[in-house]
Amino acid sequence: MHFLISYAIMPEREVSRAVEASSQRIPPFRMAENIWFVGGRAVSCHVIDTGDGLIMIDTGYPFMAEQILASMREVGLDPADLRILLHSHGHYDHIGNTRRFRALTGARAYISRIDNDICNGRLDLSWAEELGYPRLEPFDCDVLLDDGDIVALGNTRIRCRLAPGHTAGTLALFVDTLSHDRAVTCAMHGGVGTNSMARDFLERRGLSLDCREQFREGLHRLAEEKVDLVLGNHPDQNDTEGKLARVRAGEADACFDPGEWRRFLAACEARLDRMLAEEAAEPKQ
Ligand SMILES: [Zn+2]
Repeated sequence: MHFLISYAIMPEREVSRAVEASSQRIPPFRMAENIWFVGGRAVSCHVIDTGDGLIMIDTGYPFMAEQILASMREVGLDPADLRILLHSHGHYDHIGNTRRFRALTGARAYISRIDNDICNGRLDLSWAEELGYPRLEPFDCDVLLDDGDIVALGNTRIRCRLAPGHTAGTLALFVDTLSHDRAVTCAMHGGVGTNSMARDFLERRGLSLDCREQFREGLHRLAEEKVDLVLGNHPDQNDTEGKLARVRAGEADACFDPGEWRRFLAACEARLDRMLAEEAAEPKQ
């Protein structure tokens, strides 16, 4: 949901078209022993095979529903085996198929307790309007997560850490698994776009500017984690397509990069600093 910096000046219908045009499918591929990318260019969607059912991380834009299900089937994952729909945060492009997939499969929806309030309450914070779409029907998720909670299913445990800023209840997710028989920790920062931390947006929605420094503190906290393999919340944040190209070229351990996590977090902080500097340079109204 990082499109908005440039899209903010576009009429809404054009924003929708631009997002959908950017949504071309990315071929699904295996990123680690039991983790697949099944999303598109517009937003990521990952599935973890726990040996006792599937966990999906984020459900994409509504228009991606068929693509996501087709990508799952293509790599041998049966959508009927979905047990958990886990959400990085409560924005439109990450929760867009949650009600649909829940009804289709009986999977339970998990989100931070804080961001459930966006799904059912503060729908004005879901970025539907900003992305050029009508708001989703309000709904509650089934399981509400707090900082430090573990989502467990089959052989998989996902550690959830609050990483506020992009939304108040954004989660960073940590999954211990294997990559080519080596034990690895995979991680996703669940929301790093600065658009929803811009002064204009926060003031328009009556929110405090404090989220920007909370975001920075979160980046510092998360940088203490040892991470071997980064899962991008949006493909272009973490070169998902470059990883796919390396996988296809037969590179062993193509997604394994123990330096990427800290480089990525540092780049996020630099982007925050750029936004704050640009705001400070704007003429006062
Ligand atoms: Zn977002």
